[in-house]
Amino acid sequence: MNAPSSLSSQDKWSQYIGGAWSEATSGEHLAIEDPGNESHIADVTLANRADIDSAVQAAKDCVTDRLLVDIKPAERGRMLCAMSDWLEANRDELAVLLSRDSGKTLTEAHWEVDNATTFLTYYGGLADKIEGRYIPLGGSVTGYAIPVPYGVSAHIVPWNYPLEIAARGLGPALAAGNAVVIKSPELDPLSIFALAMAADDVGVPPGAINVVCGYGHDAGAALTQHPDVNQITFTGSVATGQAVLRAAAERIVPSAVELGGKSAGIVLADADLDLVVEQTRWAIWGNSGQICSALSRLVVPDHLHDEIVDRLTTRAATLQPSHGLEDADLGAMISRLQLEKVESYVRQGVDSGAQLACGGERFDRSGHFFQPTVFAGVNNQSTIAQEEIFGPVLCVIPYSDIPQALQIANHSQYGLVAGVFGNDLQEVTWLADRLDAGQIFVNDWFVPAAEAPFGGFKKSGFGREKGQAAVDSYIQWKNVAITRPGRPT
Ligand code: NAD
Repeated sequence: MNAPSSLSSQDKWSQYIGGAWSEATSGEHLAIEDPGNESHIADVTLANRADIDSAVQAAKDCVTDRLLVDIKPAERGRMLCAMSDWLEANRDELAVLLSRDSGKTLTEAHWEVDNATTFLTYYGGLADKIEGRYIPLGGSVTGYAIPVPYGVSAHIVPWNYPLEIAARGLGPALAAGNAVVIKSPELDPLSIFALAMAADDVGVPPGAINVVCGYGHDAGAALTQHPDVNQITFTGSVATGQAVLRAAAERIVPSAVELGGKSAGIVLADADLDLVVEQTRWAIWGNSGQICSALSRLVVPDHLHDEIVDRLTTRAATLQPSHGLEDADLGAMISRLQLEKVESYVRQGVDSGAQLACGGERFDRSGHFFQPTVFAGVNNQSTIAQEEIFGPVLCVIPYSDIPQALQIANHSQYGLVAGVFGNDLQEVTWLADRLDAGQIFVNDWFVPAAEAPFGGFKKSGFGREKGQAAVDSYIQWKNVAITRPGRPT
């Protein structure tokens, strides 16, 4: 089968294995829904264990034939940069595809395409800068250490930022010389096929990038258990991450796991409240709150609590929902199931005695739309403050002094992101030093830098994506010690 010829109007999608498009062995397809109006937009070939076998075999052949390691590293970099150019050239069409597939607004879909493009360029530039070391061992012994790719790298991707997360993992994996199998999310897999189309167009060797879509319990599990997979990058929920790590432990396979979050932003007494409200608008209501690093707990001084809640509810009232392509303020949630999960948390919030300051219901329209929601006066011990809701629900939690604010922020099973809003340098840095999270934002949220390492503390996972640190997940060190013969005669 030939590569699909266009992006946004394509309604049949195959899998990409070994440099060719093919149908799944089962002949089954997955129906893909537009979350913004619940219409059927495409059918995707549904991979099962046999297809995973084929995809891993194709990647293994690429590794065995040394198609990525016998070329110059700069050539791997060129491929990634060319893929980035391909995405950029198809930016608008790709954003339409992503918006219809995932429900996000067209503006947010454009941002995601841009972030994917940036990751590929960044790691394209890094490919020829992954260096080894000379190690002086004394006497007649010379040592050097070489960064060696693991081989077949399996990537399991969630639905909230499918294209961005797939590119974020693919970039460093390929830059370091690994062949990649991507298992796309079953709810919105379409945009990831663009990476396969780009790879095909720019001459990435067969088997270096393989893209399949299948159910997690079937194709996903088969991929993580596969005997020829040498490294796993998983992004998703804690429960699935635990299953993936069990499979990896069974075979002693190194893994990077990027899991959930319940991130707290602390507002100091001298914070710019306009800034707090505007950052919070995007940090919990952007992407309908389906963001691992969402600002889901806003920890505020007692005396500013009511004013901040008032400002937030006023801002929430300005936000209009629309189908993603109409590009108003709020896109749809991914599925009815996700919507129902959020509703269930709202009921638990009300039952816990938190004050529902605004939202809490679906919008009355077709599609999976949920109102921007604020709970005020939340007890940090309650379920809505401790569990990841993954929807547009903000908990505002009052504090009486800075040590208590820190205690509230750190009292979480998660540690993905934390933030501080304020200008007192002493308080800001005291908190930044003590917050238990992989990234701390000050007077901002989501600084979108490909250069900065991103990942979690505690149950938010381990291993780092982004930045040079991400390359560590894709290389193992081989040391060579050479004993020189005596002086030449
Ligand atoms: P999920 O765990 O349900 O699914 C993630 C992926 O795992 C999907 O592709 C799914 O098909 C696959 N999967 C499911 N069961 C599997 C199994 N047994 N073996 C192997 N693969 C399996 O998560 P989700 O609902 O798609 O995504 C939401 C979660 O992802 C949230 O918790 C969110 O915080 C997290 N997330 C984290 C980051 C990060 O960078 N830390 C980024 C985005 C999302």
